[in-house]
Amino acid sequence: MTLQKVDVGFLEEKPSWQLHPRFFPSKVGGKPAWLNLQDLPSPSQLSCKKCNDPLIFLCQVYAPYEDDVEAFHRTIFIFICRNGSCSQTNSTQNFLILRCQLPRKNNYYSYEPYNEKETEEFNMEKWPKLCNICGCRSPSHCSKCKKVYYCSRKHQVIDWQNGHKEICSEIQKSITYKSSDFTVNNSAKSILFKEWELVVDEEDEEESSTVDTNKEMEKLCKMIQDKRDGTLNNVSEEELEQYAKTMPEDKVFNKFNKRIARHPDQVLRYDRSGNPLWITGNSGNSVLDIPKCQYCDGERHFEFQVMPQLLNYINVGIDSNSIDWGILAIFTCKSSCSVGPAYKEEYIIKQDLST
Ligand SMILES: [Zn+2]
Ligand SMILES: [Zn+2]
Ligand SMILES: [Zn+2]
Ligand SMILES: [Zn+2]
Repeated sequence: MTLQKVDVGFLEEKPSWQLHPRFFPSKVGGKPAWLNLQDLPSPSQLSCKKCNDPLIFLCQVYAPYEDDVEAFHRTIFIFICRNGSCSQTNSTQNFLILRCQLPRKNNYYSYEPYNEKETEEFNMEKWPKLCNICGCRSPSHCSKCKKVYYCSRKHQVIDWQNGHKEICSEIQKSITYKSSDFTVNNSAKSILFKEWELVVDEEDEEESSTVDTNKEMEKLCKMIQDKRDGTLNNVSEEELEQYAKTMPEDKVFNKFNKRIARHPDQVLRYDRSGNPLWITGNSGNSVLDIPKCQYCDGERHFEFQVMPQLLNYINVGIDSNSIDWGILAIFTCKSSCSVGPAYKEEYIIKQDLST
């Protein structure tokens, strides 16, 4: 058996402009840094299958296929519904996974990499307008100023209540007003996830001797316990020990904890064509049921997974009604086909620690 290297992802603070689409970022939160800027998914595609609210951008992973000219640039996007009540055990109805790819020579970006300068002009005039709140395609604008766009009535109301009311008439008069396509204004902050750069690096080979595996496992148990109780810091040591004692029955969970102890703060594991690191053996999920790619009819394979640690970084709250997951395993078209729409739907398995 050959051991394939796994890459792990961590979060770092980064100024928003450095996460602009022209830099092809991997990132969490804020607005999506779209790849193809023309053929964006429609608001109806980007709405929750349970409550119909607009889905909110969770994260994107830049993962080119080096040997495929059509996928010189390639990004996988994850969207999620903000409503905690739509988040149900092992159900993915509140998610949407999209894959987009471009050749090096394309209509949107220069052939050579951009300089890392904040002031560099990037003209968005040619491309569809983006929602002032969530950064998704927006068919309609504010009827007064006609300069600010929204994907939905819901996001227009949020913006109006959180500041647009005060500046609308000013914007109306201004001829130089330019919307902030990818930066997050104050009213958007109330609904978007906190923005981070996602930095991906090789996983260490061995458990580092400085990390106490048991400590890390306790920390994770505590986090899960906190989420379940909707409280923070009120779990006693005895309760924690009791809880930890019930865990060792789940061999998969033990393996999970042992492996993540190498990098306790990892939020992503990237292992293309590898296997997910499942969080529990006690769930009904099966990789045997992965549907074929609906565009080319080819096989899908595992590409990466989002870890529960991400929940700690994006301000989702810990009450039992907030969005939640154990792991999110993403399966994509193995050949990364180019047929079909610019943003192609891919497959997700959500595995929760059954409670
Ligand atoms: Zn929903
Ligand atoms: Zn919106
Ligand atoms: Zn307005
Ligand atoms: Zn395909």
